[in-house]
Amino acid sequence: MVSESHCQFHGLNVAQHAAGAWQVESFGRGVYLFRWHKGFYLSPFLVATDGVTAFDPISAAAAVEYRAAIATVTDRPVTRLVYSHDHRDHIVGGAAFGQDLEVCAHPGVAERVLRRGHDDIVMPNVSLGDGTVIAADSAHIEVHDFGPNHSDSNLLFVLPTDQGRMLVWVDGVEPDVAPYRNLPDTDFAGYLHSLDRAVRLKFDFVVGGHTGPGERRWVEDYRDYLLRLRDATDAAYRASGEQTPRAGEDGVAMTERVRTEVTATAARAIRDRFGHWAGFEQWAPMTADRILSFIITGN
Ligand SMILES: [Zn+2]
Repeated sequence: MVSESHCQFHGLNVAQHAAGAWQVESFGRGVYLFRWHKGFYLSPFLVATDGVTAFDPISAAAAVEYRAAIATVTDRPVTRLVYSHDHRDHIVGGAAFGQDLEVCAHPGVAERVLRRGHDDIVMPNVSLGDGTVIAADSAHIEVHDFGPNHSDSNLLFVLPTDQGRMLVWVDGVEPDVAPYRNLPDTDFAGYLHSLDRAVRLKFDFVVGGHTGPGERRWVEDYRDYLLRLRDATDAAYRASGEQTPRAGEDGVAMTERVRTEVTATAARAIRDRFGHWAGFEQWAPMTADRILSFIITGN
């Protein structure tokens, strides 16, 4: 298989923190990536004549640095925040960008943030839906809502750049890395559906919320990975006799035996094809465990 690390799409490094906390990469047409090294997060931002549109502030500490990083490439103010989805590890800290911001998100974000009572997240005041276009000067950010996937409030975005169309799907597709652990908070069937929809979008490269840019085939590869792992998990579960206790086994012992065997077998079945992905050895069995719950319960 071709080495994963040589993506033909990459930003030009235009600014970095003296102590290495962050860097800014330019993709042209006002589109940049802010790469926050602590925890390996990244957020795109778009500089237009009427202000800066910044995606996910990440955290209180990151947002202060994010704002400083933006100021190294433009003196225009941040006028708009866009949240990729409701997860705290991407959207805390927007207050660092000041007051009176337009804060755009899937309607499910405000609902969840309110219910949780998280006052360290600036509340969205503009709802985005499928087909919405965020117009920033002459640049247009296309918004896609394919229903629940990694969370029930994930949106996908397409931004035009000098290198082609950048698809942003935070935590949905993270190039070079296997799907994360046990797919926390994920609607598994919805995730497969969203991947089906995403592969049909017009875009040239993909960025997640942690890694990227990656070639567009990463979206297809993620779909392929999850479909193959689903089929392998299903086959291993059937071959194991499903939830049949052995003599002397109680429900806990049976569950743990079946889970351990099925997830190891399923991961082994796709290792030849995907074993070179970072995180595969650690996470493929966990993802198979999540898929086994989907097979048993329907989600
Ligand atoms: Zn997330």
